[in-house]
Amino acid sequence: MQVRRGCGRGGFVSELEERVSSSIVDRLQAGPVLGAEGYVFELERRGYIKAGPFVPEVVLDYPDAVRELHREFLRAGADVMVALTYYAHREKLRDVGREGDLEAMNRQAVRLAREVADEGGALVAGNVCNTWAYDPDDPATGQTVRAMYAEQLGWAVEEGVDFVISETNDYLGEALIAVEVIRDLGLPAMVTLAPTQPDQTRDGYGYAEACRILAAEGAQVVGLNCDRGPSTMLPLVAAIRDAVDCAVAVQPVPYRTNAAAPTMETLRSADGERAFPIALDSFTCTRFEMAQFTLQSRELGVDYVGICCGAGPHHVRAMAEALGREVPASKYSPSMDLHPMFRADVKAKDAAFLHSWSA
Ligand SMILES: [Zn+2]
Repeated sequence: MQVRRGCGRGGFVSELEERVSSSIVDRLQAGPVLGAEGYVFELERRGYIKAGPFVPEVVLDYPDAVRELHREFLRAGADVMVALTYYAHREKLRDVGREGDLEAMNRQAVRLAREVADEGGALVAGNVCNTWAYDPDDPATGQTVRAMYAEQLGWAVEEGVDFVISETNDYLGEALIAVEVIRDLGLPAMVTLAPTQPDQTRDGYGYAEACRILAAEGAQVVGLNCDRGPSTMLPLVAAIRDAVDCAVAVQPVPYRTNAAAPTMETLRSADGERAFPIALDSFTCTRFEMAQFTLQSRELGVDYVGICCGAGPHHVRAMAEALGREVPASKYSPSMDLHPMFRADVKAKDAAFLHSWSA
């Protein structure tokens, strides 16, 4: 069963008003929500995050860079500003010698997201992810993970988030800890699994079954994010849609994965080198492919349509426009009819060059 649409608040509230005023649950009932992530990859490309540890030190070191990317995604139509706290947890900050900055980094990330979200009526999501501390065979690690989530999200709640996204979960067990912590804080939870394996989590649950359990434990939105591109993530979606009554989220990476290399981690360059994580450029999907993904995911009943590592604002704008929206960045959407060489009334002196473009 799909989430009801268009029936929020008596049915006469416009989608815009609904988007500006309501919670994530209300917005999902009113229509699709567009998510944009991939902050870590994009800020690494821009020279503000170190590849390898991928810790978002940029939040404290160059906050304007984070503001700018939030603003670019907002102008492109993203409905949610996700606080850049991905990997801003104790385990990772210890790796780079910044454990002492843990609280400041988490608080500042939420403030930056809130500041930009308020410029365009977007929601703010707190963010936690796989910790690398969890071991399903060692119950004590569950307590470690719980403490890490509780301290991160405690700060997020104090700074003011609307809901929490728990993402790139490899283990159902770790995701369930996130659900408990988020539920205890009284916030809606969106929980997504990282589909790195062919059909199940690392602790042995089929993706649809894991989503069913997450929903039963109180997650308001469940689904998949990261690792797979649209062509290898979409085939997993129908079973999840059938398994749950709540909203479904799907946020692939914009890379051309395929049957032989179903995840970005398995893509290889022509010379056989691993492309992940910093040589994936030649596999990047076009904006048109991401627009097509948006329509395909809607046909499958996806409610929260998004994009993960590798995303650029041009992808997000194309996805928003595929949903029928005109967004601030649409002012500068392509008009190839005005290109000197492609316009209908191309001058004869310019048309001559088209022959060389066809060679
Ligand atoms: Zn990702």
